[in-house]
Amino acid sequence: MAEPSRILVIEDEPAIADALVYALSTEGFVPEWRANGRDGLAAFAQQSFALVILDVGLPDGSGFDLCRELRTRTSVPVLFLTARNAEIDRVVGLELGGDDYVTKPFSPREVTARVRAILRRTLSSPPQEGVRLKNDVFAVDDDRKTVRFHGVTLELTRCEYRLLKALLARPGRVYSRDELMTQAWEDPGASLDRTVDAHIKTLRAKLRAATGAKNGDETDEVIRTHRGEGYSVCIER
Ligand code: CA
Repeated sequence: MAEPSRILVIEDEPAIADALVYALSTEGFVPEWRANGRDGLAAFAQQSFALVILDVGLPDGSGFDLCRELRTRTSVPVLFLTARNAEIDRVVGLELGGDDYVTKPFSPREVTARVRAILRRTLSSPPQEGVRLKNDVFAVDDDRKTVRFHGVTLELTRCEYRLLKALLARPGRVYSRDELMTQAWEDPGASLDRTVDAHIKTLRAKLRAATGAKNGDETDEVIRTHRGEGYSVCIER
């Protein structure tokens, strides 16, 4: 990589911030630390960053709100720092556009590994031709990172997009959670099965919403659950 990646760390606890800044520096990144959301946004407005590490609990508001604010102006990758397990569901379940999360307490090394994985993913994916699937149920637009379903553009988070794209690579094939994590997260060791499950759940809700379908029988789902095995996408209906 030509230039070292600038990383914005928004975290109010100095001890955690110091450890992160140190770990990121020794790994060749250029970290900037801000202790609250307001200063974080100000820093973001002044310079460009390759990635933002964002604490969920900030003194002047939640990291969720800040992420939403960031998303109105940029698609910069966001790695959440969460203090409680209860926050994880919000991170993966809401329309936040976060790319990954780590739960406190964490090792700074774990965080830098995640940062590396996210940057590798976002920097190395070259623009590709849009993929159209037969019968036009789904159309994947890799440039815009969107998927159209029955002509309706789905509003997907990055993780949902990658997950759906992985499933759509071979409709009907059953993908294990491990495989889906490998393809959608590229950091399989660090994620939990329920992360995949949570994303599948939100994906299904969006697919239903796109066609006005009701929350019904599992067999009606476009994304099918194969107990003990994983998931597949079914486009023959
Ligand atoms: Ca905090």
